[in-house]
Amino acid sequence: MSRAEIVVDLAAIRRNVRALRERTGVAMMTVVKADGYGHGMLASARAAREAGSEWLGVATIDEALALRAGGDSGRLLCWLTVPADDLAPVLAADVDVTAYTVEGLERVAAAAVRAGRGATGRPARVQLKVDTGLSRGGATAAQWPEVVARARAGERDGTWRITGIWSHFSTSEIPEDPANAEQEAAFEEALAVAAAAGLQPEVRHLANSAAALLRPSSRYDLVRCGLASYGLDPAPGRHDLALVPAMTVRADLALVKQIDAGASVSYGHTWTATAPTTLGLVPIGYAEGISRHAAAGGGDGGAEVLVGKRRRPIRGAICMDQFVVDLDGDTPPEGDEVLLWGPGTRGEPTAEDWARVCDTISYEIVTRVGGRLTRRYVDGVADQHAHDDRHDDRHDAPGERKR
Ligand SMILES: *Cc1c(COP(=O)(O)O)cnc(C)c1O
Repeated sequence: MSRAEIVVDLAAIRRNVRALRERTGVAMMTVVKADGYGHGMLASARAAREAGSEWLGVATIDEALALRAGGDSGRLLCWLTVPADDLAPVLAADVDVTAYTVEGLERVAAAAVRAGRGATGRPARVQLKVDTGLSRGGATAAQWPEVVARARAGERDGTWRITGIWSHFSTSEIPEDPANAEQEAAFEEALAVAAAAGLQPEVRHLANSAAALLRPSSRYDLVRCGLASYGLDPAPGRHDLALVPAMTVRADLALVKQIDAGASVSYGHTWTATAPTTLGLVPIGYAEGISRHAAAGGGDGGAEVLVGKRRRPIRGAICMDQFVVDLDGDTPPEGDEVLLWGPGTRGEPTAEDWARVCDTISYEIVTRVGGRLTRRYVDGVADQHAHDDRHDDRHDAPGERKR
């Protein structure tokens, strides 16, 4: 155990991926971008594969290449490139790349030649993304026919195979929002245009975690689950699938001390003790991704941490390396464990609790945490379904350190 660390329960990830696969009944793409939402990309990817994830999904080509370098050889999609990216290495590594403009397809065609794909070798693997209403990446309905036509021409000349057609929701955590049905209808139209042009993709996909859980009609051939794979709930209270949060952030308590009434705490003196109390010093700060928004200014309502079986409020401003909590007269031993967030099973707050306080989403809480924290992998939760994968996954290898 190190002084301040992220503990990742790989059994929880396996269990969540299995549960999601069973619930949805279609193929699973576990999304491991952004260092596995802060859980470690390679270890999370391995856990997802062990749990049967047919696909992995990442944003950038660097992430895709890191997975290949780490030994993953399964189906893998990346979706966010810029014109200067060299696509040849990912095409050569059998990564599915995403395109959504004619120019983007021309770049893939040029890279396929450099990668020895197309006329001279096996076709590259390309997926097309259509914008069904998020207005982010993806071809608009107006662009879609020419994108599809260029894609089909590249199939005919052997440059690539169009392996997938996909899109992404804007509002899937609110299932009754009419945007969801509108996006599904737009996706159907895009699929019809593609089929009429002769494209026969292996996979059509639209759903992220929330849609996978809440909208069976959006599941198509596979679902792309990020958040829920890590046990965080995209839509609390709206479904009955039990998810197990995989991340715990903990530290050793650095210091315990007594202060008098009237003493003010941390930079700017935003909190002043109205009675004598004890304070605990936690050696993690905003350099580790703990937002200054987690402190409550002068009043109540900031984030809490668990020390000595009780939740303790943060007092005063969060600093770069440390913050202070109110121990309310208790004097736990220095070195005692501080839990910032975790699955909640020991009474500690969850990432969702921190998200509420910081006026953000749990995605941001887990993805931003890092800095000088190290990562440790454990096999925690009882694995309901299988026994053969209950080996000990502990490895404090430097290669697994948080970047
Ligand atoms: C990040 C991402 C996902 C995963 O979304 P979750 O809500 O975390 O399940 C799926 N698809 C795309 C295109 C993404 O960028």
